[in-house]
Amino acid sequence: MLPRIAIIGRPNVGKSTLFNRLVGRKLAIVDNTPGVTRDRKEYEARIGGRDVILLDTAGLEEAPPDTVAGRMRASSEAAIQQADLILFVVDAKAGLTASDRAFAAWLRRQKVPVLAVANKTEGRGGTMAALEAYELGFGDPVAISAEHGEGISDLHSTVAGMLPEEPEEEEEDDKDRPLRLAVVGRPNAGKSTLLNALLGEERMITGPEPGLTRDAVTSEFNDAVGRVRIVDTAGMRKKARIVEGLEQMSVGATINALKEAEVAVLVLDALLGLDEQDLRIARLAEREGRAVVIALNKWDAVEDRIAARRGIEDTLQTSLAQLKGITVVAMSAATGRGVDKLMPAVRETMERWNKRVPTGELNRWFEGALSRHQPPLADGRRIKLRYATMPKARPPTIVIFGPRAEDLPEDYRRYLVNSFRDAFDMPGVPIRLQLRGTS
Ligand code: GDP
Ligand code: GDP
Repeated sequence: MLPRIAIIGRPNVGKSTLFNRLVGRKLAIVDNTPGVTRDRKEYEARIGGRDVILLDTAGLEEAPPDTVAGRMRASSEAAIQQADLILFVVDAKAGLTASDRAFAAWLRRQKVPVLAVANKTEGRGGTMAALEAYELGFGDPVAISAEHGEGISDLHSTVAGMLPEEPEEEEEDDKDRPLRLAVVGRPNAGKSTLLNALLGEERMITGPEPGLTRDAVTSEFNDAVGRVRIVDTAGMRKKARIVEGLEQMSVGATINALKEAEVAVLVLDALLGLDEQDLRIARLAEREGRAVVIALNKWDAVEDRIAARRGIEDTLQTSLAQLKGITVVAMSAATGRGVDKLMPAVRETMERWNKRVPTGELNRWFEGALSRHQPPLADGRRIKLRYATMPKARPPTIVIFGPRAEDLPEDYRRYLVNSFRDAFDMPGVPIRLQLRGTS
């Protein structure tokens, strides 16, 4: 999914000219009669080193021509639904008009990132004219001349800085790719026993392979959904044991396994409960951004199961809030009982970790969260938060924009993350929150 950019603004401010300049070919019809019929199209362009889709919204200007502002609104509503970024173009030569201002006021309420572009600033006095565009309230405007090609590189770099982050992996949608699973936990929790139970007859050693950490061995098996590759660190573990002694967990090996995996299964010894060492591994998984499922192993040997479960859940509640709601599967790797519940739980958590929330839904949540619990004051003034985007999943990452957003205190950030997690049902998934200040 390429980021989508819409160019909007009053008729005749130079949208089509800018569009053509960005696409690099003469595609849209340029005409100085306002509202010339044009088909609405999408074009691929490269902006600031990124491939993007430019939405040509010009055709929509044909909407009922009651007022200029009404027409702009009609044409822009559709664009806003689809766009990751809006370029709001004004004519700096003509100066801001009442409809520019009315439209900007409306646009500010639409919760999409907007860049103000002051066009027709060529020649002397151009930059001065552009200053007026500050009044639109979208931060620093970019001054350009679409016709003469001035200010375009500035526009490219500014746009690049406002686009959602590039997805980390191209292969994201590749259905044939196996799910990558790391089985982590302290020594003797039962990791090897669990691996054997999962692999069963199908055991197939595939590593070492190029690109994988040296000494990492991977094995694959099929669950009900598809292939699963276990990023096994047996080799690394063995080495670590020699170096550090048998009872030591190798943090290095665990981190390497986590880096190569999508989901981590944290194996706990139910007889020992959840202690500091286990929490440390869980936090490493969280820090690496992995989805986590807990395998509560040796369940066969537990006498008071109710107390054991409660003990674990209390500790999770108080000490692992970052992974709130994490799934706990009680099992016995040795007897095989309950092991069949593990992969469905892994798949489900993985799906949440993969989930993209559409911008519209995201902002409905965002407004609700803000109205239920207002952002706090900083230096006596309320911190205003404008809109949210979700540039990536794996793990889910939300970016919130607003003037002084960076000043938001930790407890309010936590509130937003928890509210997001509840609203979109993402237990056991680390959620990243980034705050970006706008002026
Ligand atoms: P749209 O209706 O917003 O798509 O505007 P157009 O791209 O059709 O341009 C409207 C008019 O403004 C045309 O006559 C263009 O040649 C002119 N125009 C576009 N960009 C510039 C510019 O940077 N400087 C000047 N002086 N005129 C421009
Ligand atoms: P690892 O160090 O995490 O790979 O742990 P192992 O798989 O080597 O298991 C450590 C010990 O726990 C072994 O003696 C296993 O037999 C025992 N064990 C593993 N799973 C279970 C289980 O489900 N129930 C019981 N009672 N013992 C288990």
